Amino acid sequence: MSKKIAIIGSGFSSMSAASYLARSGFEVNVYEKNKTLGGRARQLKKDGFTFDMGPSWYWMPDVFESFFNDFGKKTADFYKLERLDPGYQVFFGENESICIGDSLEKIYDVFEKEEKGSSEKLKKFIKTANENYNIAIKDLVYRPGISPLELITPTTIKKIKYFLSNIKRDVCKDFVSPKLRQILQFPVLFLGAKPSETPSFYNFMNYADFGLGTWHPEKGMYSIVEAMSSLAKSLGVKFHTESNVEKILVNDSRNIAGIKINGDILEVDVVLSGADYHHSESLLDKKYRRYSNAYWDKKVFAPSSLLFYIGLNKKVENVSHHSLFFDVDFDKHASTIYDSPSWPENPLFYANFPSISDSSMAPKGKEACFILVPIAPGLEDTKKIRDHYLDLVINRLEKLTHQPIKKEILFCESFCINDFVSEYNSYKGNAYGLANTLFQTAFLRPKLKSKRVKNLYFTGQLTVPGPGVPPAIISGKLVSDLISKTNP
Ligand SMILES: Cc1cc2nc3c(=O)[nH]c(=O)nc-3n(C[C@H](O)[C@H](O)[C@H](O)COP(=O)(O)OP(=O)(O)OC[C@H]3O[C@@H](n4cnc5c(N)ncnc54)[C@H](O)[C@@H]3O)c2cc1C
Repeated sequence: MSKKIAIIGSGFSSMSAASYLARSGFEVNVYEKNKTLGGRARQLKKDGFTFDMGPSWYWMPDVFESFFNDFGKKTADFYKLERLDPGYQVFFGENESICIGDSLEKIYDVFEKEEKGSSEKLKKFIKTANENYNIAIKDLVYRPGISPLELITPTTIKKIKYFLSNIKRDVCKDFVSPKLRQILQFPVLFLGAKPSETPSFYNFMNYADFGLGTWHPEKGMYSIVEAMSSLAKSLGVKFHTESNVEKILVNDSRNIAGIKINGDILEVDVVLSGADYHHSESLLDKKYRRYSNAYWDKKVFAPSSLLFYIGLNKKVENVSHHSLFFDVDFDKHASTIYDSPSWPENPLFYANFPSISDSSMAPKGKEACFILVPIAPGLEDTKKIRDHYLDLVINRLEKLTHQPIKKEILFCESFCINDFVSEYNSYKGNAYGLANTLFQTAFLRPKLKSKRVKNLYFTGQLTVPGPGVPPAIISGKLVSDLISKTNP
């Protein structure tokens, strides 16, 4: 008889694991507390506008492809992808912006225009970043983080120096222009830590950015949620929404007994949680938890975010699908996130206008606008604070792009720390999980397998390999391999 596995949460890691486990013969049920699937990648639809509520950057297309290939499928069987040109636009001030095009040649040209001689340096930088990307994908990210020995291969040994320096140091050594320095440090933000705290090896994200490009799935990132859930269903996975898991039950021999959902007890053989790790352990009696509150308190969390989903009554000019507003002091803002958590006085922010390249995202003649201000987790979150920042970013947007925006707002929904906690049970309202610093990489991250309870496992952005959609998909694969090995 098939073993029964209950998966908590329906984020990308859970959906990825669900498909692999169903294919291995498990009876898989996914329990999601919210009304819809996708975890942090849920969708908001309002008055003809469509917003991806969380992720919007489709990077590392090879990881998505490889996931679907594992099941004899390809992404094109489920959704249409378009490489964006420009991939994104970075604003440094009024009439001062740089567009990152859809080919390395275009990017080399832009660099050379900004700083003489920089294109040659960039070629070298990208060559190393490309090598590191190949090593990361072949030798590192698909490892379960059980032992440090996983990291030692003939190829990784040669790269040891890249773990002893950091991205900021390397970028500042080679490039003088503050603009180019910021552009090259931007991809690291996806890893959740300051560039000065991120090992140089992670420059492979620069290859992901410039070499592999920024893509847009037609109808938005939610298309991936629909694709992955449809694949899982075809393999026999059952999804249950509005199913809040209240307790993980353990028997006297420290083995999984079942879970409690909305007051009912369900007996299962294995539990896999894709909910935030800290919350997942809080569903256990204290003696079965591996990591204490003090442990979580010391960890470097990736930022939280203040988000706005805005319907605009006109098409916006002078911006790109992905627009980054780096017209303020990056280090000062980063310090309010990582050094002394507080609301930033002058925040950098990110805006995306998916309806620029995808007409399905907004009614004709209107624009869907998503704004993200990165902030420290755990900050006070009130309506007054949100309103203040909405005013601030809209004023900046108007000034930098030379057009009225405020009077064109049809509606504006916001999402911040309190919502991350109440909607996702997120620790301190973090948005992207646990940062990838040197001491929070690979085997140094919270483990996929519980040490205290047999047949209890974890997946997602707080464990290996780290934050982001591609890592979450990989995390699901890694944990399902472990589960299948221990439950033949
Ligand atoms: C605003 C924002 C922007 C981002 N931008 C990008 C981007 O552009 N590109 C990128 O690659 N990544 C991005 N990310 C990161 C990426 O979205 C996440 O790393 C990834 O989606 C996390 O997936 P996950 O499977 O770890 O967990 P989650 O998506 O967090 O899923 C966990 C699920 O568990 C559910 N749950 C929690 N507790 C319970 C319970 N007790 N019972 C039942 N269910 C429960 C939650 O409701 C949730 O659905 C972004 C994230 C955010 C928030």
